[in-house]
Amino acid sequence: MNIPYEEFCFRVAAVEARIEAAARAAGRDPREVRLLPVTKTHPALAAVFAARRGLGAVGENRVQEGAAKRPETAALLAGETAPAPRWELIGHLQSNKVRLAAETFDRIQSVDTEKLVRHLDRAAGELGRPLSVLLQVNAGRDPAKFGCELEDAPRLLEAALAAPHLRVEGFMTIAPLGANEAGTAEHARRTFSALRGLRDELAGRFGVALPELSMGMSGDLELAVAAGSTCVRVGTALYGTR
Ligand SMILES: *Cc1c(COP(=O)(O)O)cnc(C)c1O
Repeated sequence: MNIPYEEFCFRVAAVEARIEAAARAAGRDPREVRLLPVTKTHPALAAVFAARRGLGAVGENRVQEGAAKRPETAALLAGETAPAPRWELIGHLQSNKVRLAAETFDRIQSVDTEKLVRHLDRAAGELGRPLSVLLQVNAGRDPAKFGCELEDAPRLLEAALAAPHLRVEGFMTIAPLGANEAGTAEHARRTFSALRGLRDELAGRFGVALPELSMGMSGDLELAVAAGSTCVRVGTALYGTR
């Protein structure tokens, strides 16, 4: 990332305009959709820019990278009025990194097994604070993606709802290949609407709210917003290629 803060602000405005247009076209209130800047592979300054711009949170896909950048970001922001951002893990989480993940992140979007539920619940209990989570579902049935299968989501949700130290806020998915590549838009659309349908069904069946639907990235956020996304995770369109 070698852009000045002013350029970052232009890019945020452009992404916000895309979100707004997609929301209005779908008859939705654009304020229902939050922009989560994805700072992975970029220096801590990327998170500082997000905080200055008032975006409130950043997404990282690796535990160690987030654990290193979080204090760096706080140090860079010392003396500024912008509050430190919240940190969200959006990448695959291995069992042996659960403790560090629970210490580092305010929310974990990539919970996809009952084993992770148990380990995260224990870690949050030991830390003495509840941990917000999203359940990651492989709604596009992409063999290259993490996330539980659609059929396994009810069991995973049941386990997560029963975990006393976890707060289950909704679901996350990644569309196969993203919609950057020609020919995948229809698959992305089906992926997003499958997650939306799953959420609606399970929220009814379990009698819980599950308001968050984290779906959409730089290349496919319009499709995700049309399908009901409440959180788009955007890296490239804000910080450039990695
Ligand atoms: C990297 C990443 C993103 C951001 O992707 P861009 O195409 O750069 O916007 C979103 N979600 C997840 C899970 C990611 O790993």
